[in-house]
Amino acid sequence: MDGPSGSGKSSASRGVAKALGLRYLDTGAMYRAMTWWMLRHGVDLADSDAIAVRAVEPEIVSGTDPEGPTIHVDGVDVASPIREAEVTASVSVVAAVPEVRSRLVALQREIIGAGDIVVEGRDIGTVVAPDATLKVYLTASAEARARRRHAELAGTTVEAQQAAMATRDRLDSTRRADPLSMAAGAVELDTTALNLEEVIAEVLRLVEERRGPAAKSGEPRRGRDHTYERT
Ligand code: C5P
Repeated sequence: MDGPSGSGKSSASRGVAKALGLRYLDTGAMYRAMTWWMLRHGVDLADSDAIAVRAVEPEIVSGTDPEGPTIHVDGVDVASPIREAEVTASVSVVAAVPEVRSRLVALQREIIGAGDIVVEGRDIGTVVAPDATLKVYLTASAEARARRRHAELAGTTVEAQQAAMATRDRLDSTRRADPLSMAAGAVELDTTALNLEEVIAEVLRLVEERRGPAAKSGEPRRGRDHTYERT
């Protein structure tokens, strides 16, 4: 599942993974973890060569249980610090460096392995897993996305949120390496007027459609109790 921030990716992909008993991978958390490490080690983020050279160093480990995904860098639990404003403001710059992307894409492909996983990000359908059974591209109006983010974060206005998200989206969509774009064969799902349950239901319907009638029965249906967390 790909899409811009605030499109509902995180909550929807976790919900789908829970409902189908699949693993879940948040690739944005990996780019955030890389950024957190760069900041912690005083790497000059204006120097893409410095970022490229040091990108091999951090050991990034992602836990893929959708009930409680985890992320560690060099053994440190960074689930909370990677959501802080400093990381959020810098992550698109770090994620634009090709050496960062090739390292993290290789890690992601290792985790994805044989499949049975819901993966969310910006380049999953285009680069990381172009042969995925189902590719979904989530969108929502800029206002809806800013409102969702604003509801999760204290100390900001919807307008400030919308401006920050627009900057990040622009950087993510215009970078040379693996920009955010809809993959060939992806299904676009506009979540502006949908609640989380409706988004999950629609994705589950698409999964069933892909699997065909023979595979329809017997799937667990759990994870009804969601709110939008973040994307
Ligand atoms: O999804 P999230 O907002 O946590 O992603 C943080 C940032 O990581 C994005 O703004 C983008 O710059 C980068 N990212 C990426 N490719 C991915 C996932 C995230 O470049 N597959």
